[in-house]
Amino acid sequence: MTAILRAVQADITRLSVDAIVNAANSSLLGGGGVDGAIHRAAGPDLVHECRLLGGCKTGEAKATRGYRLAAKYIIHTVGPVWRGGANGEPELLASCYRHSIEVAAAQGVSSLAFPSISTGIYGYPIELAAGVAVSTVRKSLQHPSSLTEVVFCCFSMDDLAVYQQVLDKAA
Ligand code: ADP
Repeated sequence: MTAILRAVQADITRLSVDAIVNAANSSLLGGGGVDGAIHRAAGPDLVHECRLLGGCKTGEAKATRGYRLAAKYIIHTVGPVWRGGANGEPELLASCYRHSIEVAAAQGVSSLAFPSISTGIYGYPIELAAGVAVSTVRKSLQHPSSLTEVVFCCFSMDDLAVYQQVLDKAA
């Protein structure tokens, strides 16, 4: 089955999908940006489960329940901090998308939403990050899995325009 890829402008905590991805930090204990928003929306039980996970390395991904979210699962992944681009950032960012899809598929997830990992506090240029996101997700979905829909959830209209352009170009 071929999964549908699309980009939307939204608050990821409000999406009705089976799982959302969190752009977390390696402690998995919450932070700013989308991470803070997800912890606030999911409620305090989330951090209790996160404490049991023992952190997460950059480029890897771990699942928790979604608690108060509409989403049943949260897939926590840790993006790379942008340090100019020659320090393995593209490979690590691709690894986030690949591992998140693997972890979601292992839970039988059908619809999955990603935020724009690393492009906030971690400073990854959005045009470059969107290219990595779309190409890695497309490649991962070539393997048959439970996934039928992947949503790139952009927080701003400017980010949405970038993702839309990348999706249209590579279609
Ligand atoms: P990172 O540390 O990986 O850069 P950030 O949370 O700082 O993570 O930013 C990642 C992206 O998530 C940015 O594009 C930011 O605008 C976006 N973002 C922040 N809050 C939300 C939200 N509630 N829903 C969707 N995206 C969000």
